Amino acid sequence: MAGGARRVGATKDPVVVGSIELFPVADAVGLLGEYSELYPEVPAEAWEPYRVLYPDLFSGDAWRLPCNGFLVRTEATTILVDTGVGPQGLWDWTAEREGELPDALGRLGVRPEDVDIVFLTHLHIDHVGWNTDLEGVALFPRARYVVHEDALAFARAQEGRAHVQRCIIALEGRFETVSGDFELAPGVTAFVSPGHFPGHMGLRLLSGSQRAVLIADTAVHPALLNEPDWVYVADGEPAVGAATRHALLPELIDQDVLVACGHYPGSGIGRVVTREGRVVWEHAG
Ligand SMILES: [Zn+2]
Repeated sequence: MAGGARRVGATKDPVVVGSIELFPVADAVGLLGEYSELYPEVPAEAWEPYRVLYPDLFSGDAWRLPCNGFLVRTEATTILVDTGVGPQGLWDWTAEREGELPDALGRLGVRPEDVDIVFLTHLHIDHVGWNTDLEGVALFPRARYVVHEDALAFARAQEGRAHVQRCIIALEGRFETVSGDFELAPGVTAFVSPGHFPGHMGLRLLSGSQRAVLIADTAVHPALLNEPDWVYVADGEPAVGAATRHALLPELIDQDVLVACGHYPGSGIGRVVTREGRVVWEHAG
């Protein structure tokens, strides 16, 4: 197979990036709201090409949002990237399925105590839900919970919110904060990708000549890969987010690199390519 990583066999098999294994870990999918309210500056007709490209992300005029994590496994280290929406019924959205992450890990043969690092790209509710169980006890008893210091400070300032209490405040003392780019394991490097949330981070995987980038919510909808200036109402600093997308895109478009996002369709692992003059994300495998 020409360069890059390959997808092997059935769903339990990882996408391999050299000697690093990458698995999708499904947690939830549901309706977040109407596109017209979530992207108020984007006219309805501008979404039409993306409705064709990404039908799974549309339910009528609503954004149908998968919320999934990833498991990254090196020879010595098991890393869970984001912990999903969490137990059923805690988030005020229209869920189709939720609460699946522990079972999804189990199907991969991963027990909570096997996770060495929980890497949190940021601390929105759909990325922290399984940090703890319903009682606020760490779900991953041995794990280092790694997060950017700015993200943690921002979340702590919202301690009145239920998910912040259960998933952040209850874990006080368990977090290991970083202030910039940081190597989690050999070939696995977190990088600051600002705009969506204070201290928002992505993850680069590099092993041999093979690469992957977990972009987290840098481009929370694949349409933003072609329309990097579109503003999503939940972006904390929209202009900064747009600048981050413009800066990152050359590393992704038509390059020999896998691009993964837990809000994209299917496994969320694919490639960013130019098709008929448009930048699109295509599922790998
Ligand atoms: Zn998100």
